[in-house]
Amino acid sequence: MPEGDSIHSAARRVGAALVGRPIVAIETPQPRHALDRWPERLGGRAVRSVDARGKHLFIRFDGDLTLHSHLRMTGHWGVYPRGERWRRSARRAWLVIRTEQHDVVEFDGPVLELMTDSRTRFDRRLTALGPDILATDFDERRFLELTRRDDQARAVGDALLDQRNLAGVGNMWKAEGCFIAGVDPWRPLRSVSGDELLAVVRAVRPLMLDSAAGRRAPRRWVYDRAGLPCRRCETPIRARGQGDDNRTTYWCPECQA
Ligand SMILES: [Zn+2]
Repeated sequence: MPEGDSIHSAARRVGAALVGRPIVAIETPQPRHALDRWPERLGGRAVRSVDARGKHLFIRFDGDLTLHSHLRMTGHWGVYPRGERWRRSARRAWLVIRTEQHDVVEFDGPVLELMTDSRTRFDRRLTALGPDILATDFDERRFLELTRRDDQARAVGDALLDQRNLAGVGNMWKAEGCFIAGVDPWRPLRSVSGDELLAVVRAVRPLMLDSAAGRRAPRRWVYDRAGLPCRRCETPIRARGQGDDNRTTYWCPECQA
Protein backbone atom coordinates (compact mmCIF):
# COMPACT_ATOMS: atom_id res chain seq x y z
CA MET A 1 0.00 0.00 0.00
CA PRO A 2 1.36 3.42 -0.92
CA GLU A 3 2.40 5.38 2.17
CA GLY A 4 3.14 9.09 2.50
CA ASP A 5 6.70 8.76 1.22
CA SER A 6 5.60 7.20 -2.08
CA ILE A 7 2.89 9.85 -2.49
CA HIS A 8 5.36 12.70 -1.85
CA SER A 9 7.77 11.09 -4.29
CA ALA A 10 4.96 10.74 -6.86
CA ALA A 11 4.04 14.41 -6.35
CA ARG A 12 7.64 15.34 -7.19
CA ARG A 13 7.71 13.19 -10.35
CA VAL A 14 4.25 14.31 -11.52
CA GLY A 15 5.12 17.94 -10.81
CA ALA A 16 8.38 17.73 -12.75
CA ALA A 17 6.45 16.36 -15.75
CA LEU A 18 3.51 18.79 -15.65
CA VAL A 19 4.36 22.14 -14.09
CA GLY A 20 5.22 24.71 -16.74
CA ARG A 21 4.58 22.27 -19.64
CA PRO A 22 1.69 22.71 -22.07
CA ILE A 23 -0.94 19.99 -21.50
CA VAL A 24 -1.85 18.45 -24.84
CA ALA A 25 -4.55 16.02 -23.67
CA ILE A 26 -6.48 14.91 -20.59
CA GLU A 27 -8.29 11.58 -20.71
CA THR A 28 -10.56 9.83 -18.21
CA PRO A 29 -10.94 6.30 -19.59
CA GLN A 30 -13.23 4.97 -16.82
CA PRO A 31 -16.98 5.21 -17.44
CA ARG A 32 -17.43 6.54 -13.90
CA HIS A 33 -15.86 9.82 -14.99
CA ALA A 34 -17.51 10.01 -18.43
CA LEU A 35 -19.97 12.70 -17.33
CA ASP A 36 -17.45 14.77 -15.40
CA ARG A 37 -16.24 16.55 -18.56
CA TRP A 38 -12.74 17.01 -17.12
CA PRO A 39 -11.10 17.22 -20.54
CA GLU A 40 -13.36 20.20 -21.36
CA ARG A 41 -13.16 21.81 -17.92
CA LEU A 42 -9.37 21.50 -17.70
CA GLY A 43 -8.57 22.03 -21.38
CA GLY A 44 -6.13 24.87 -21.99
CA ARG A 45 -5.29 25.30 -18.30
CA ALA A 46 -1.71 25.01 -17.08
CA VAL A 47 -0.68 23.04 -13.98
CA ARG A 48 0.46 25.50 -11.32
CA SER A 49 1.77 23.01 -8.78
CA VAL A 50 1.57 19.46 -7.51
CA ASP A 51 1.72 18.70 -3.82
CA ALA A 52 1.00 15.95 -1.31
CA ARG A 53 -0.47 15.91 2.15
CA GLY A 54 -0.34 12.62 3.99
CA LYS A 55 -1.47 10.10 1.39
CA HIS A 56 -3.43 12.67 -0.66
CA LEU A 57 -2.07 14.17 -3.88
CA PHE A 58 -3.21 17.44 -5.45
CA ILE A 59 -2.67 18.62 -9.03
CA ARG A 60 -3.50 22.34 -9.00
CA PHE A 61 -4.53 23.93 -12.31
CA ASP A 62 -4.85 27.60 -13.24
CA GLY A 63 -8.27 29.03 -12.49
CA ASP A 64 -8.86 27.53 -9.04
CA LEU A 65 -9.38 23.90 -10.11
CA THR A 66 -7.59 21.03 -8.37
CA LEU A 67 -7.55 17.30 -9.02
CA HIS A 68 -7.50 15.45 -5.72
CA SER A 69 -6.45 11.80 -5.58
CA HIS A 70 -6.02 9.14 -2.92
CA LEU A 71 -4.59 5.79 -3.98
CA ARG A 72 -5.94 3.67 -1.10
CA MET A 73 -4.53 0.12 -1.25
CA THR A 74 -3.63 -0.46 -4.88
CA GLY A 75 -3.36 2.82 -6.78
CA HIS A 76 -0.24 4.08 -8.48
CA TRP A 77 1.00 7.19 -10.29
CA GLY A 78 3.12 6.49 -13.35
CA VAL A 79 5.18 9.05 -15.27
CA TYR A 80 6.39 7.78 -18.66
CA PRO A 81 8.28 9.43 -21.50
CA ARG A 82 5.92 9.66 -24.50
CA GLY A 83 5.96 6.42 -26.47
CA GLU A 84 7.32 4.32 -23.61
CA ARG A 85 5.23 1.31 -22.58
CA TRP A 86 3.22 1.81 -19.36
CA ARG A 87 4.00 -0.62 -16.59
CA ARG A 88 0.33 -1.32 -15.81
CA SER A 89 -2.52 -2.17 -18.16
CA ALA A 90 -4.19 0.78 -19.90
CA ARG A 91 -7.50 -0.71 -18.76
CA ARG A 92 -6.54 0.18 -15.20
CA ALA A 93 -5.89 3.84 -16.04
CA TRP A 94 -8.30 6.31 -14.46
CA LEU A 95 -6.64 9.50 -15.58
CA VAL A 96 -4.12 10.29 -18.30
CA ILE A 97 -2.51 13.72 -18.64
CA ARG A 98 -0.29 14.09 -21.69
CA THR A 99 2.37 16.69 -22.46
CA GLU A 100 4.70 16.71 -25.45
CA GLN A 101 7.24 14.77 -23.39
CA HIS A 102 5.28 12.65 -20.90
CA ASP A 103 2.21 10.57 -20.11
CA VAL A 104 1.20 11.01 -16.48
CA VAL A 105 -1.17 8.19 -15.52
CA GLU A 106 -3.15 7.38 -12.41
CA PHE A 107 -3.90 3.65 -12.20
CA ASP A 108 -6.50 1.97 -9.99
CA GLY A 109 -7.34 5.21 -8.23
CA PRO A 110 -10.61 4.88 -6.36
CA VAL A 111 -10.57 8.48 -5.12
CA LEU A 112 -10.20 10.95 -7.93
CA GLU A 113 -12.16 14.17 -7.98
CA LEU A 114 -12.03 17.68 -9.35
CA MET A 115 -12.62 20.39 -6.78
CA THR A 116 -11.98 24.09 -6.31
CA ASP A 117 -8.80 25.08 -4.55
CA SER A 118 -10.78 26.57 -1.70
CA ARG A 119 -12.61 23.31 -1.16
CA THR A 120 -9.27 21.56 -0.65
CA ARG A 121 -8.86 23.88 2.33
CA PHE A 122 -12.34 23.27 3.82
CA ASP A 123 -13.18 19.70 2.83
CA ARG A 124 -13.88 17.79 6.04
CA ARG A 125 -11.86 14.72 5.05
CA LEU A 126 -8.85 16.92 4.39
CA THR A 127 -9.12 19.32 7.31
CA ALA A 128 -9.46 16.30 9.64
CA LEU A 129 -5.97 15.11 8.71
CA GLY A 130 -3.37 15.18 11.45
CA PRO A 131 0.06 16.73 10.87
CA ASP A 132 1.90 15.34 7.84
CA ILE A 133 4.97 13.44 9.01
CA LEU A 134 6.78 14.52 5.83
CA ALA A 135 5.98 18.23 6.10
CA THR A 136 9.05 20.43 6.60
CA ASP A 137 7.24 22.03 9.54
CA PHE A 138 5.92 18.74 10.98
CA ASP A 139 4.21 19.64 14.24
CA GLU A 140 5.19 17.14 16.96
CA ARG A 141 3.16 18.90 19.64
CA ARG A 142 -0.01 18.78 17.58
CA PHE A 143 0.57 15.07 16.92
CA LEU A 144 0.83 14.44 20.66
CA GLU A 145 -2.29 16.52 21.41
CA LEU A 146 -4.37 14.65 18.84
CA THR A 147 -3.13 11.26 20.02
CA ARG A 148 -3.96 12.14 23.62
CA ARG A 149 -7.50 13.09 22.56
CA ASP A 150 -7.94 9.67 20.94
CA ASP A 151 -9.40 6.70 22.85
CA GLN A 152 -6.61 5.85 25.32
CA ALA A 153 -7.64 2.17 25.38
CA ARG A 154 -6.76 1.94 21.69
CA ALA A 155 -3.59 0.04 20.80
CA VAL A 156 -0.75 2.40 19.87
CA GLY A 157 -0.09 0.55 16.58
CA ASP A 158 -3.70 1.14 15.53
CA ALA A 159 -3.72 4.80 16.63
CA LEU A 160 -0.56 5.53 14.62
CA LEU A 161 -2.35 4.41 11.43
CA ASP A 162 -5.22 6.82 12.02
CA GLN A 163 -4.62 9.67 9.56
CA ARG A 164 -6.47 12.03 11.93
CA ASN A 165 -3.62 11.61 14.43
CA LEU A 166 -0.71 11.50 12.01
CA ALA A 167 -0.91 11.79 8.22
CA GLY A 168 1.29 9.78 5.91
CA VAL A 169 2.28 6.80 8.03
CA GLY A 170 1.00 3.43 6.79
CA ASN A 171 1.28 -0.12 7.97
CA MET A 172 4.92 -0.72 7.05
CA TRP A 173 6.41 2.43 8.58
CA LYS A 174 4.23 2.02 11.66
CA ALA A 175 5.64 -1.49 12.27
CA GLU A 176 9.21 -0.41 11.58
CA GLY A 177 8.90 2.69 13.78
CA CYS A 178 7.50 0.74 16.73
CA PHE A 179 10.37 -1.75 16.42
CA ILE A 180 13.13 0.87 16.23
CA ALA A 181 11.64 2.73 19.21
CA GLY A 182 11.18 -0.54 21.15
CA VAL A 183 7.43 0.02 21.57
CA ASP A 184 5.02 -2.95 21.59
CA PRO A 185 2.29 -2.00 19.06
CA TRP A 186 -0.33 -3.70 21.28
CA ARG A 187 0.15 -1.43 24.28
CA PRO A 188 -2.86 0.81 24.98
CA LEU A 189 -2.20 4.48 24.28
CA ARG A 190 -2.61 5.37 27.96
CA SER A 191 0.51 3.37 28.83
CA VAL A 192 2.67 4.94 26.12
CA SER A 193 4.50 8.11 27.12
CA GLY A 194 4.82 11.19 24.91
CA ASP A 195 8.54 10.50 24.63
CA GLU A 196 7.82 7.00 23.35
CA LEU A 197 5.28 8.27 20.80
CA LEU A 198 7.81 10.82 19.59
CA ALA A 199 10.53 8.16 19.47
CA VAL A 200 8.42 6.15 17.00
CA VAL A 201 7.81 9.20 14.80
CA ARG A 202 11.43 10.38 14.97
CA ALA A 203 12.61 6.88 14.03
CA VAL A 204 10.68 6.75 10.77
CA ARG A 205 10.52 10.39 9.69
CA PRO A 206 14.11 10.54 8.34
CA LEU A 207 13.66 7.15 6.65
CA MET A 208 10.45 8.34 4.99
CA LEU A 209 12.08 11.64 3.94
CA ASP A 210 14.91 9.65 2.37
CA SER A 211 12.46 7.40 0.58
CA ALA A 212 10.37 10.38 -0.64
CA ALA A 213 13.56 11.90 -2.06
CA GLY A 214 14.25 8.67 -3.95
CA ARG A 215 17.06 7.37 -1.75
CA ARG A 216 17.13 3.67 -1.10
CA ALA A 217 15.17 2.34 1.85
CA PRO A 218 17.06 0.40 4.54
CA ARG A 219 16.24 -3.28 4.98
CA ARG A 220 13.15 -4.01 7.03
CA TRP A 221 13.35 -4.97 10.68
CA VAL A 222 9.93 -6.58 11.14
CA TYR A 223 7.47 -5.70 8.38
CA ASP A 224 6.44 -8.75 6.33
CA ARG A 225 8.90 -10.94 8.28
CA ALA A 226 6.45 -13.12 10.26
CA GLY A 227 8.21 -16.17 11.70
CA LEU A 228 11.67 -15.04 10.59
CA PRO A 229 14.34 -14.42 13.25
CA CYS A 230 14.57 -10.87 14.61
CA ARG A 231 17.63 -9.19 13.12
CA ARG A 232 18.58 -7.99 16.60
CA CYS A 233 17.79 -10.92 18.96
CA GLU A 234 16.77 -13.85 16.71
CA THR A 235 13.37 -14.29 18.37
CA PRO A 236 10.78 -15.14 15.66
CA ILE A 237 8.89 -12.06 14.49
CA ARG A 238 5.19 -12.20 15.27
CA ALA A 239 2.29 -10.99 13.14
CA ARG A 240 -1.39 -10.45 13.87
CA GLY A 241 -4.29 -8.37 12.53
CA GLN A 242 -4.91 -5.18 14.48
CA GLY A 243 -7.64 -2.55 14.72
CA ASP A 244 -10.99 -2.20 12.98
CA ASP A 245 -9.40 -2.76 9.58
CA ASN A 246 -7.50 -5.82 10.83
CA ARG A 247 -4.23 -4.65 9.30
CA THR A 248 -1.44 -7.11 10.04
CA THR A 249 1.07 -5.70 12.47
CA TYR A 250 4.55 -7.18 12.94
CA TRP A 251 6.66 -7.05 16.06
CA CYS A 252 9.47 -8.73 18.01
CA PRO A 253 8.05 -9.94 21.35
CA GLU A 254 11.56 -9.68 22.88
CA CYS A 255 12.82 -6.31 21.63
CA GLN A 256 9.39 -4.70 22.00
CA ALA A 257 8.42 -6.20 25.35
ZN1 LIG B 1 14.18 -8.88 18.69
